Amino acid sequence: MYIVNVVPIARGIGAEMLSYFTTSEIKPGSIVKVPIRSREVPALVIGMKSAAEAKTDLKNSTYTLKKIGKLNVLPLFLPGFIKAAQDAAEYFAGSTGSVLALVTPKVILEQAEKVVPQKDIPDSVPDQNERHEPYTIQADEEERLAHYKSLIREQFAKKKSVLFCLPTIQDTKRIFSTLPKGIEQYTYVLNSSLSKKEILNTWNKIIEEPHPVLIITTGSFLGIPRTDIGTIILERESSNGYKAQIRPYVDTRRFAEFLALRIGAKLIFGDHLLRVETLWRTKQGDLAELAPLKFRSISTSKEVVVDMKRYKTLDRPDFRIIGEELDALIQQSKDHNENLFLFAARRGLAPMTVCGDCGTTVLCTKCTAPVVLHRGEENFFLCHRCGERRSAEERCKNCDSWKLTTLGIGIELIENTIQNMFPDMKIFRMDKDSITTHKQALAVVNEFYNSPGSILIGTEMALTYLEKPVENSGVAAIDSLFSIPDFRINEKIMNILLKIRSITQKIYVVQTRSRNQRIFDYATKGNLMDFYREEIEERKKLSYPPFSNLIKITIKGTREQVTSDMDFVEKLLEDYNPLVFPAFIETVNKKTVMHALLKLDQGTWVNKDLLERLLSLPPHISVNVDPESLL
Ligand SMILES: [Zn+2]
Ligand SMILES: [Zn+2]
Repeated sequence: MYIVNVVPIARGIGAEMLSYFTTSEIKPGSIVKVPIRSREVPALVIGMKSAAEAKTDLKNSTYTLKKIGKLNVLPLFLPGFIKAAQDAAEYFAGSTGSVLALVTPKVILEQAEKVVPQKDIPDSVPDQNERHEPYTIQADEEERLAHYKSLIREQFAKKKSVLFCLPTIQDTKRIFSTLPKGIEQYTYVLNSSLSKKEILNTWNKIIEEPHPVLIITTGSFLGIPRTDIGTIILERESSNGYKAQIRPYVDTRRFAEFLALRIGAKLIFGDHLLRVETLWRTKQGDLAELAPLKFRSISTSKEVVVDMKRYKTLDRPDFRIIGEELDALIQQSKDHNENLFLFAARRGLAPMTVCGDCGTTVLCTKCTAPVVLHRGEENFFLCHRCGERRSAEERCKNCDSWKLTTLGIGIELIENTIQNMFPDMKIFRMDKDSITTHKQALAVVNEFYNSPGSILIGTEMALTYLEKPVENSGVAAIDSLFSIPDFRINEKIMNILLKIRSITQKIYVVQTRSRNQRIFDYATKGNLMDFYREEIEERKKLSYPPFSNLIKITIKGTREQVTSDMDFVEKLLEDYNPLVFPAFIETVNKKTVMHALLKLDQGTWVNKDLLERLLSLPPHISVNVDPESLL
């Protein structure tokens, strides 16, 4: 008889490690099914002892061991991958099982018996003598792709495989279509848009292929057990798509670092503009430059920044949504049969409505987020947070006044305005209200590219679909983003402005009512260096990452519950000076939300004492290490 230690791979199971007995030997890395409460849960075998060896343990245990159910007795994962998951569990203050649930595809765990087992999986992780620090590359996409291509060739020549990791499904498709000329038969794409059957098939093919392979994938397939992975490329490093939105909030970028280290692979972070903290680490020498980082971004387009303040404010008769320069650009695009992309940051007609008499903001009755005015047969307010919809025919809740006025410019208002100015122009719109499926989005973008002289107006959503250049582009409204109280907001705005610039061939017009923000000059001139300098100074002053590690603790519930839980958290973490504050939107679905923020000195996380305290918190209190935002 044997005793095996397993990690249940499922979220919401508190236990880190469980023990079961079995009559046959099972290698670490194998997937088994274990009974937990009334269900069977996949679990990963971490270690095994013969019963004789474990005798003392057994004698001391107060519970009876249950027997394991179904077996897949050959290992499905590399020991290095399991180690990396344990590293990540510690770093993100979660259980190993909950990390594994995020970084392995569900079908592989559920149908483990259909997976081709690996016979040559090593019993232990490779020596760490060979460790090399991660590399960074910051350059335009064309240049990055050229680097990656030669790297892949070089790796193949050394009989090594390459993991090419991307933040979104759409990215994996794009890279697949642009990258592997001549090595198609050794290139595989894994992403969650594939059916369970396709995932299983591809997974098995990758394992059985004797030749080195290129695997283009999103973060949840990094556990593919090829023993010959020599390089991991993590492209579009600045994308927040790498951060999981569910607990334990694993960040694929950090996980890739653990993985590369544990399997002895080279890791490369690449982007047009890397994250400020990644640039900082490169400057400090913690990361190495794959090629000298480019801090000047070249573009063939002519850029114009327009100060919209000259058209005064919203309540003045000479207020304009489309300024003269953009007006001229639309006319020119139409006359010359050129395409024009126009960016708008916010959905709806207006992102905010306030009372003209008392200044009260119109809020969602369910979750207290400011509601967004939308156009309909009868205009309506829509809550972008919880989806509540109601007629816009109402009075101020505070003073009963009818004088409700809109603030800011939404995409629908821009669309309306252009329609009125250019009635015979073909206009496409892409935002979450008009486009609900991936297929729809592709169709709209295609039709736009195939209709010379047309306009596509889009929110951030459109940016992932614009893969080919357009003649002209513009930013109609972006200023509302500056008011978002988030330490990464400048980085985000910079990325949006740069992305649009990178696809523009001729003229790029940016409208703003915040002309004093230097970011507009940095973005339109492609001046990444001054942007970085200013941003790192700002982060240093406020001791935000990379000058600290942030941990956000969130409690949601009834007001009394949250208050008493927060008192408990404050006491538990007293030594670490938690800063307690209400969420940006204080109530969600009638539940109160509060955060506590820990700001740890650079380099002091993981701290074992603090980790233990965080792990002792009940499951309804969530812990987010390295949060994307403080909201
Ligand atoms: Zn009022
Ligand atoms: Zn709401």
